[in-house]
Amino acid sequence: KSGVVIIGTGQGGFQLAASLRQEGFEDPITMIGDEPGLPYQRPPLSKAYLKDARPETIQLRPQSFFERNGIRLLAPERAIRIERSNKLVETLTGGFIGYDHLVFATGARNAAPAIPGIDAENVFSLRTAADTDRLRDALTRCSKVIVIGGGFIGLEFAAVAVSIGHRVTVVEAATRLMARAISSAMSEHFRQLHEELGTTLIVGKGVTGVLQDDGCVRGVRLSDGSIVEGEMVLLAVGVRPNTELAEIAGLAVANGITVDALLGTSDPHISALGDCAAFPDPKSGDTIRLESVQAATDHARAIAQKLTGKASNYDAVPWFWSDQAHWKLQIAGFARDTDAEHAIERPDGRKLVFRFKMGQLLAVETINAAGEHMAARQLLRRPAGVTHKELADRDFDVSGLAR
Ligand code: FAD
Repeated sequence: KSGVVIIGTGQGGFQLAASLRQEGFEDPITMIGDEPGLPYQRPPLSKAYLKDARPETIQLRPQSFFERNGIRLLAPERAIRIERSNKLVETLTGGFIGYDHLVFATGARNAAPAIPGIDAENVFSLRTAADTDRLRDALTRCSKVIVIGGGFIGLEFAAVAVSIGHRVTVVEAATRLMARAISSAMSEHFRQLHEELGTTLIVGKGVTGVLQDDGCVRGVRLSDGSIVEGEMVLLAVGVRPNTELAEIAGLAVANGITVDALLGTSDPHISALGDCAAFPDPKSGDTIRLESVQAATDHARAIAQKLTGKASNYDAVPWFWSDQAHWKLQIAGFARDTDAEHAIERPDGRKLVFRFKMGQLLAVETINAAGEHMAARQLLRRPAGVTHKELADRDFDVSGLAR
């Protein structure tokens, strides 16, 4: 038996190997990953790991876990071609690895917009532990920091940089922060937080060029012609799914490797998960792609169940978190396009935002309110959701409603 071959040793690839063994899968498991070392988690890369450089703090499991569970880890190694007719994966070092079932867990890579001068020294991106190591080093040399992109990763990094005394400017082309993922009320709340921390926020202006001195960054030019000075730049403007290998192998791809409700691709012997997979949203039926630990790990668990004969459609409620300074933003549900939002501010400063589309509750955002976030996840499972009238009640308690 060839067993399961997983391409990608990130969050989802690791979870799939672990869950397969948990579910009693006894055939071989091979993981192929192009990053060196053991599988690790990415969330700390823009948070704690920027300050604390110990790799063991981000590793998902020690080496002994893989040995004990008979999980073969080929890293660093790159899958370069899939031969579907013979169920083989070709690797960069010239090997061919057979599979009974193949799983794409190839994740995503950072978008690289063609901004003139972007190849200057001291322009960084942030996706891997090696990227964070380079950024940490640059922060010891440069004190004026420019972040291009006011999304989760850019703002998390900005919060760390400003906390160690750096002068930080965030430039965001959209008219508000984290606009793709959160409500306008929550964007506004975070704008105030970052300004209080001392970060300069410039929204509604794009970066049209990176200015250099002897090949090294000295600032950026904005779409209105103005200039922001800085010694280093973090480019954090989103990601693109790693789908090329699947596409060349003839699988259906459209902003992600297209999968069905069981995470299967157009080939019955191949599945895909996490950042690289475009899957049917259980709530709306729309094809979506999520970039979150939750999606990667829940997809992995669902595939492990499928491969051990316990198939059931994927129907997890999405959730996400982002730590920025002393604020933990948590999002239950998924909302990209909403027509109403209801914000509640507690006297102790906790904040909740309920987001709706045509009366249907799609997502609940909270700050520093872990209990209410958990309750919101339950609430989103309730077909009835919650009404504006219930929310308007002064004593509204999301935990009570979710019970
Ligand atoms: P990944 O973890 O990216 O793993 C994919 C792996 O496959 C990579 O190692 C890649 O190099 C490898 N690969 C690709 N192609 C090949 C090939 N051909 N051969 C071999 N290997 C290959 N999510 C949250 O929910 N909360 C957070 O706070 C949060 N913070 C984040 C902070 C940062 C800085 C980053 C980068 C991400 C963050 N995320 C967060 C997102 C989360 O980490 C990802 O959604 C998650 O890692 C996706 O898991 P994955 O397995 O799909 O992909």
